[in-house]
Amino acid sequence: MKITKVEVFDCEVNRKDPTMAAFNPVLVRLHTDEGLSGIGEVGLAYGSASKAAVGILRDFGKRLIGKNPMNVEAIWEMLYRDTFWGMGGGPVIYGGISAMDIACWDIRGKACNMPIYQMLGGKTNASLRTYASQLQFDWALKHKNLATPEQYAEATRKAKSEGYTCIKVDPLMIDSHAVRNPKQRYLGILQYEDMKMGLDRLVAMRDALGPEGDIIIEIHSYLGANSAVQFGKAVDDLKLNIFYYEEPVAPMNQDSMAFVADKVRMPVASGERIYTRWGYRPFFEKQALAVIQPDACLVGGITETKKICDYANIYDATVQVHVCGGPVSTAASLHIETVIPNFVIHEHHTYALKECIRELCKYDYQPENGEFVAPELPGLGQELNDAVCKDYLAYTIE
Ligand code: MG
Repeated sequence: MKITKVEVFDCEVNRKDPTMAAFNPVLVRLHTDEGLSGIGEVGLAYGSASKAAVGILRDFGKRLIGKNPMNVEAIWEMLYRDTFWGMGGGPVIYGGISAMDIACWDIRGKACNMPIYQMLGGKTNASLRTYASQLQFDWALKHKNLATPEQYAEATRKAKSEGYTCIKVDPLMIDSHAVRNPKQRYLGILQYEDMKMGLDRLVAMRDALGPEGDIIIEIHSYLGANSAVQFGKAVDDLKLNIFYYEEPVAPMNQDSMAFVADKVRMPVASGERIYTRWGYRPFFEKQALAVIQPDACLVGGITETKKICDYANIYDATVQVHVCGGPVSTAASLHIETVIPNFVIHEHHTYALKECIRELCKYDYQPENGEFVAPELPGLGQELNDAVCKDYLAYTIE
């Protein structure tokens, strides 16, 4: 089997929903001479690098023409070792490797008439507990920045009413006027008004959720080592039973992460900005993370995510695959999480509720009663919705 055609889709969903201005999934589809096709995604839908993702897929697409998509390890090594920058790191290169790897796995599954999870090791987790993610943007069909503790409580009640028993929030990202906080003020130590704003929101959410459910605190690496400990200890003192503390500091300094993990009672999580086994190695060796959050569309695809999850297991680190992208990202994650014994919970982002994201693919997989199951169709079990994606086609390589 040979790859004969590569299509790249630059999904500027804000053309349809201006509230999604900062969200731009990039998808790829590989075609073969045997009539099978496979789809992948780069996990750079947010932040500043989506157009770089479009560029790297163009380069990698040329390299993949003529290759056999069944040989995922060989393709992974080729993109890692023969691209010069592959061995240097970074989200753009690894995002490109990830998208191509996922698309090849989709083709492999279809060729073997099996869902990917079956090829990876079978069903360890029949049902995947799922949390409602990023409630500072509300839990609704339209994006909205939330400000008051009561609004955070209401978003929590909405998620709870749909069956979720776990929620995640960044309690500091949006200021009391519902605009994004200037982050520099968080790096040193926190002022009383910032601390109080964050803690009041968390207390309101715990009250709304009740004593049974779980709350994940997201920081997006906006704190520094000292302010992360300052805020973390204040949360610890409230005894809110926080599930874990995500990206309290930037992942570029593993010693800072270990410093925070050592000083707060909450388990620490990180991973959406850590790439490949090489990137995870120091975090494991320093025992800095209780939960790893590799993004299948950034860390090196399904091939690399599975290896990292197994590597994490040596250090008793559990796994929540990071999901903040289009429906391809969701499907890839569900297959991996179905297999791994150290799975902890699945992430369902508030963006995954938006119509402009859901319409990108043929199947609209959503959790039921706070639980997700992996698709049972061969491969990823997902296809692009051509009626929508044709408008986002950036280029074709043949
Ligand atoms: Mg995060």
